[in-house]
Amino acid sequence: MAVILKVRGTRDLLPPETELWNRVEATTRALFARYGFGEIRTPIFEDTQLFARGVGEETDIVSKEMYTFTPADDVGRSAGRVTGESAGLPSRDEKAQSLTLRPENTAGVVRAYIEHKLNDIGTLQKLFYIGPQFRRERPQRGRYRQFWQIGAEVLGPAWSGAESPLRDAEVLEMLATLLDELGVRGWQLDLNSIGSTTDRPRYLAALRAALAPIKHQLTPDNQRRAETNPLRVLDSKDPRDQALIEALPCIADFLDEDSRSHFDQVKAALTACGVPFRDNPRLVRGLDYYTRTTFEFTIPDGSGLGTQNALLGGGRYDGLSEMLGGPKAPGIGFAIGEDRLILALEAQAEQESPVERKLDAFIAPMGISQNSAALVLARELRAAGLSIEVGEGAFRLKRSFETADKLAHRMVIVGEDEVASDLFTVKHFSRGEQEKVTRVGLAEALRR
Ligand code: AMP
Repeated sequence: MAVILKVRGTRDLLPPETELWNRVEATTRALFARYGFGEIRTPIFEDTQLFARGVGEETDIVSKEMYTFTPADDVGRSAGRVTGESAGLPSRDEKAQSLTLRPENTAGVVRAYIEHKLNDIGTLQKLFYIGPQFRRERPQRGRYRQFWQIGAEVLGPAWSGAESPLRDAEVLEMLATLLDELGVRGWQLDLNSIGSTTDRPRYLAALRAALAPIKHQLTPDNQRRAETNPLRVLDSKDPRDQALIEALPCIADFLDEDSRSHFDQVKAALTACGVPFRDNPRLVRGLDYYTRTTFEFTIPDGSGLGTQNALLGGGRYDGLSEMLGGPKAPGIGFAIGEDRLILALEAQAEQESPVERKLDAFIAPMGISQNSAALVLARELRAAGLSIEVGEGAFRLKRSFETADKLAHRMVIVGEDEVASDLFTVKHFSRGEQEKVTRVGLAEALRR
């Protein structure tokens, strides 16, 4: 029968790789706690309108990458199996609601912020999430259709200080600390201000005016962007367009006094903290909700990510809450591409020293009559905090040896005599030694 394979652009994460995922998440959670963040978990699917309004109709994400469906499709498929109100079928209203697998998490967090009236609490809200996102992009190394993001948002009413440049600097300092703690080497922080909602229309008008006479010279993708989302032209990495892009007007020249001063204060605080950054006036982001500070952390070419070398991105989104029908609640946030972060860490580890992941010991029962005794011993040793695998009494000694050597640092032999005398043979593979150890001393001997 034909084998069923995973869907294009998705990945299975297997051990031992998942161990690294868990370590990264544990380190991140511990660090977020030190900065006062609490976890939020929002649904995997949301009303399509949330992304259309929040992320923006003209963005690549909303215009061509979303997984959108309507419950009416579900009803069609399940017809004949479940019927009627009691089976939980949607009402007429629900049927009409278009749903989308979340392509990013900021819109969902801000929706939850509004829905749960977190603004009324009056203090700054610091929320983080870890979870899968979905975008129908062209898959390649570091770019998937289901990928994981670790992100955080800092938002609150104006009087909570959410708008302060200190918040931007704190978030960036936290990210620099996180990447250092995780051991990511050679990261670079690119920083820009794309202006407030009043600066941006002036800049966009200038950009459109500058693009109009040269548009036909751009590559087709950028010709389209010049029409639909001109800011994205600046973001293009296509080498054929770089000379033309270089000559376009710069957002820095369109910032008003407030935006300029805000940006200067962010940079001054970062400098005071010793966080290195590069001013990059061409840095824009692919989502419409960003205002003022925008940033991206990349790692150098040759760090295992190929062209997908952006580890994380983010910025300020001062008008997003209002765009979603909520109160004024300025904020700043980021999303780390967890898949890319892990790929980078793996590539780094490979360059240094390949790590050998082995269990503390393999327990080898000599004969099936010793299986229970082996399991009891494994239970005791695991309770003492050791990592243990148990063999099978039907194995021949040679098979036990080979399996143990592959899986563990040591092998403990459990035979009739050993159980009767409570004295076990421990074989240390790396040292090529063997020793007899009493049951009470076993955990200690296996830990050494
Ligand atoms: P964005 O939400 O587009 O600002 O992206 C934030 C980060 O998520 C990027 O810097 C990437 O590290 C990661 N990312 C975005 N799209 C993908 C994808 N399709 N596959 C893997 N990681 C992604």
